[in-house]
Amino acid sequence: MSDCVFCKIVAGQLGAARVWESESVLAFLDINPVAEGHTLVIPRSHAADITGMTSREVCEVAQALAKIAPAVVKAVGAQGFNLLNNCGSVAGQAVEHVHFHIIPRKAGDGRGYRWITLNYGEGVAAELAAKISGLLE
Ligand code: 5GP
Ligand code: ZN
Repeated sequence: MSDCVFCKIVAGQLGAARVWESESVLAFLDINPVAEGHTLVIPRSHAADITGMTSREVCEVAQALAKIAPAVVKAVGAQGFNLLNNCGSVAGQAVEHVHFHIIPRKAGDGRGYRWITLNYGEGVAAELAAKISGLLE
């Protein structure tokens, strides 16, 4: 995709602080980090989101995430990390080349992370679970 900023990074047309790469995966530091060490992990091939990735790419990106996250945590002296994927503009996706955020977290870092939650009414969860299951058959 010629107008995709992450494809340009993959192609070397745009600079990035590269962390790790393989034949199919690239990891680099986020240009506007939520925390020091905030890393993005992407498939080299363009896909807008995870539903456009091949099974093999999904596996390879997942393996890369499990390998890279501990190194990010260790490098910045963090104790944990948030692993995040925003899928679709409604969910906050700004760059339309699928990417997974590794955000290292330290005790008392003040970054916060709280969803607004709701409660299911009587029987609603079971009904919804069945509906989703039905769509997966
Ligand atoms: P999203 O909101 O789509 O999940 O996250 C996109 C991320 O990409 C943001 O955290 C943003 O800072 C990062 N980003 C956008 N453009 C660039 C770029 O040119 N280089 C790098 N390294 N990161 C970028
Ligand atoms: Zn792309």
